[in-house]
Amino acid sequence: MIRFDNVSKRYDNGRLAVKSLNLEIGKGEFFVIIGPSGCGKTTLLKMINRLIHLTDGTITIEGKRISDYNLHELRWNIGYVLQQIALFPHMTIEENIAIVPELKKWKPEQIQHRVRELLNMVGLDADIYRHRKPKELSGGEQQRVGVIRALAADPEVILMDEPFSALDPISRAKLQDDLLELQRTIRKTIVFVSHDMQEALKLGDRICVMKDGEIVQLGTPQEIIQHPANDFVREFMGLTKDFDIQQVIRPAVMKEGNLQQSVSGHDSLQSILSKLAQHDCLTVLEENAVVGMITRESVIQFLANDSVVRGDSHD
Ligand code: ADP
Repeated sequence: MIRFDNVSKRYDNGRLAVKSLNLEIGKGEFFVIIGPSGCGKTTLLKMINRLIHLTDGTITIEGKRISDYNLHELRWNIGYVLQQIALFPHMTIEENIAIVPELKKWKPEQIQHRVRELLNMVGLDADIYRHRKPKELSGGEQQRVGVIRALAADPEVILMDEPFSALDPISRAKLQDDLLELQRTIRKTIVFVSHDMQEALKLGDRICVMKDGEIVQLGTPQEIIQHPANDFVREFMGLTKDFDIQQVIRPAVMKEGNLQQSVSGHDSLQSILSKLAQHDCLTVLEENAVVGMITRESVIQFLANDSVVRGDSHD
């Protein structure tokens, strides 16, 4: 769907922000780019819709070079959500959402129908919200409108640059849940920049960990957690933090005939991870009695939940 071949970006000041990067993002994939501040995430993202021009290499979407698309056509067909969405303050929510469909000359009835559908899709009552101005909405509601505005003209690709990082933790978790739910229905190709591991683990089909303009590791959340490429990834994923097995034990659900691998209460995180590479879940034994079980999800949750937000927002 989106392919990077030896793509580099050197800024005018000589800074090489992205270094000969190769990458393929699949259709319908939720692809999260993560890494510390300044590692090149935003540069990578903005090259896709040509907000930043690449210096070397090629990017193609559906096999066609982005430079061969008409710029308007390219931008209208790629939804874009920013950290601080810029809804136009003097326009109603409906007018804000309708911008791209209007540019694409959709019929008024079709636009109205679409606005209604989108607002309802994210739990905002269309009758109430469509005539409001942005300032009459909470931060979370505005961000929700930002997301559906990017979806308005039904683009295949959506770029999201830390779209929830300005929100409080509760609104943020809610919007992440909503986005996941939405993605189950719409199955768009989403490229999502984050510096928050919890968010990446929760949302990504695959996660691309970057450092100094290069990909350090690319894989599913499970692959990265189970086989971190190096100490940088280990540290970044929180794999080096203090581990207490109690934090990952869940009540045991024994299935008859399902011989599970067991661990003791003294096993290290590393040994648990390597056993989870072969088994979906592990039983925890103490003095030959089952005291609970550990699943891949419970370990991912442990790694995600307490992980600090690493690096600062780039702006
Ligand atoms: P991230 O999104 O991971 O924080 P960026 O892609 O914003 O990283 O930046 C990558 C590197 O490129 C950083 O070192 C940053 O300082 C540099 N950079 C970003 N934008 C510009 C610019 N317009 N001119 C020069 N250097 C830039």
